[in-house]
Amino acid sequence: MSSLSSQLPSSLVGLDRAALKQVLANIGVAEKEQNMRVRQIWSWLYVHGVQEIDKMTTLSGALREQLGEHHTLERLTISEKQVSEDGTRKYLFKLHDGHEIETVYIPETDRGTLCVSSQVGCTLNCTFCHTGTMRLVRNLEPHEIVGQLIAVRDDLADWHNNESKRAVSNIVMMGMGEPLYNTDHVITALNVMSDGDGTALSKRRITLSTSGVVPDIARVGDATGVMLAISLHAVRDDLRNELVPLNKKYPIEELLEACRAYPGLSNARRITFEYVMLKDVNDSDADARELVRVLSGIPAKINLIPFNPWPGSPYECSSRNRIMKFADIVNHAGYASPVRTPRGRDIMAACGQLKSASEKMSAAERKQAELAAQRLSQPVDIRE
Ligand code: SAH
Ligand code: SF4
Repeated sequence: MSSLSSQLPSSLVGLDRAALKQVLANIGVAEKEQNMRVRQIWSWLYVHGVQEIDKMTTLSGALREQLGEHHTLERLTISEKQVSEDGTRKYLFKLHDGHEIETVYIPETDRGTLCVSSQVGCTLNCTFCHTGTMRLVRNLEPHEIVGQLIAVRDDLADWHNNESKRAVSNIVMMGMGEPLYNTDHVITALNVMSDGDGTALSKRRITLSTSGVVPDIARVGDATGVMLAISLHAVRDDLRNELVPLNKKYPIEELLEACRAYPGLSNARRITFEYVMLKDVNDSDADARELVRVLSGIPAKINLIPFNPWPGSPYECSSRNRIMKFADIVNHAGYASPVRTPRGRDIMAACGQLKSASEKMSAAERKQAELAAQRLSQPVDIRE
């Protein structure tokens, strides 16, 4: 094999068009035939979800054989799967180098959302986030990002022709990692997942969440057209510097400036501002009023997230009453402010609880987390 082909993964699953074209070039398919073959393979991979190269029946037998000599349709390996009492599923996938990532599927009445990881771990150390405490970090390859969707579709037997029957209808880039510290790969992956001739997820149903990597915000918007969510969590720089240390580099005003300039922003395509509710830290009436003030002029939704505890976490979740009061102020100012119902807390699948089993909790830690999760697992309220 040439050095180029040895850089390509042996599995074709999750590859973008350029990589597939390279695969074909490497096995000697003539240039003028390549685009047509890519179209065929694309449909088998992303519309039909076939698991064997031999099932790609529009390819000639000879081509299937050649492909099969170097490549497979192997999926990401599920090393653990947990199903919550509320139906949420948490998958732990093992990557080829042994690293592990987590992906969460959240079924709701009108949609099914897949929460996808962009990195192994995260370098950013937000003080309320479990993922930020992981030591190991690497960027995921585009095919490892797309591979999460493919593996979950397999697991849910979700390869329907009829789109309205699909279990996975929405994607949120809100799993492990900061997507805009892996921007190029995330752009490639999002464009594969939203490709109309493949898995065809609507760009309106894909949301990328960032803690505020200002220089890449417009770029990802231009290159993908997906919806944007910002992990705001505080409205004063001194507090945000503490909660989201990246704020020291890109303070609130710069971040909001980038939001105002987000490509395609309109009342029909609002930015979601995520705000984790931390008891006595960022949850006062004054904070709510300031939140409304700083967002004025930006088409926005505000998503209040009850803090999800993890072993050793230094915060508590605001009380139900406090969250309701905060939401009222935000509502009265004219913002939709759904409170995110914690999902999958009993299996540590909720926001900010993800951390791969390569750093497994001790039994005592797990018990402590489960107890904390049970105490807090009463849904708060949902207003869309
Ligand atoms: N790194 C990106 C995306 C992953 S985090 C980002 O920070 O936006 C997805 C969301 O979960 C973010 O809004 C994050 O701030 C929030 N989150 C992290 N830890 C949390 C916790 N313990 N409880 C509730 N939400 C949390
Ligand atoms: Fe990283 Fe997001 Fe967690 Fe911050 S909240 S540590 S950016 S994953």
